[in-house]
Amino acid sequence: MGKPLHFNKVAIIGIGLIGGSLALVLRNEGIASNIVGIGRGLHNLESAQRLGIIDSFTRDIGEGFKDADLVVVAVPVLKIAETIRQAAPHLKPGCIVTDVGSVKGAVITEVTPLIPEGVHFVAGHPIAGTEHSGAEAAFPELYIGRKCILTPTQKTDSGALEKVRFIWEATGAKVVVMDAASHDMILAAVSHLPHMIAYTLVNTVGDIEDSGVDALSYSAGGFKDFTRIASSSPEMWSDICAMNKAQLLKTIDGFSRRLESLRALIEKEDLAALRSEFGRAKSLRDSLIKNNPKERA
Ligand code: NAP
Repeated sequence: MGKPLHFNKVAIIGIGLIGGSLALVLRNEGIASNIVGIGRGLHNLESAQRLGIIDSFTRDIGEGFKDADLVVVAVPVLKIAETIRQAAPHLKPGCIVTDVGSVKGAVITEVTPLIPEGVHFVAGHPIAGTEHSGAEAAFPELYIGRKCILTPTQKTDSGALEKVRFIWEATGAKVVVMDAASHDMILAAVSHLPHMIAYTLVNTVGDIEDSGVDALSYSAGGFKDFTRIASSSPEMWSDICAMNKAQLLKTIDGFSRRLESLRALIEKEDLAALRSEFGRAKSLRDSLIKNNPKERA
């Protein structure tokens, strides 16, 4: 893009980890003059203003979106369409609406019919996060070196797509464009399934705790590393399960088959086959770390 991109008014609904971190970049890079935060809880919005993430806030969607040039929807995925439905009458022609939801197919299907004539919707998903939530968790370096996936459809305006690409590149992310179905299949495997496993693993040990054995106090670094993402927001992750249900079920079935076959090898005491299984996983994981040495685990 030739000249630097600038928006007079940016409205961000959901000033949490993802929306708040993006707001900090828009401010630091001079991409936005005025950032209005919209949310439900006063405490989070007040924190966001105190931390310099937003210029002002409102809990009134109409007031927040009025005259915005860019709208970022950063609420849990199940609430994205409802948010846009409420916002639609207040969006001005030419406004760009983008989201950051972790599921793309269902969001696009729900949101596309709600977008008024002359308003442009670009679906996106930054592949970055921590297990923390809310404005206090936001930091501007969150996206550096991470991927951000944009999933345009045939209806997506090419100019709006380029502007959203520019915004994400300004965060330090590498922008990748793909279709929503591919996004949902890949993310089910590398993000949604690991969260399901982490929650299940912690609850499995929780069952042992419930039987009166304090197993958790014996857990070491490995257990904590592996289960870090089980501290993620239950609301966000239950929404993701609902919105990416078909892909997630397929991925869970594939995982269950693998676990069953591992169980059979353990039962048979087939150590050679176990070594081969573990060796394959070790070399895949080692090459991931070797190729991305600076990434957070
Ligand atoms: P978060 O830190 O919990 O922030 C979500 C924000 O949305 C909160 O500030 C919450 O504030 C607000 N909110 C929730 N429901 C709302 C509603 N109905 N109306 C208005 N505001 C509402 O969550 P996050 O991690 O930033 O996730 C936000 C989005 O980013 C989700 O769609 C998620 O799928 C996506 N995402 C997350 C990650 C990740 O790893 N965390 C990565 C990439 C994408 P109040 O409760 O005060 O309203």
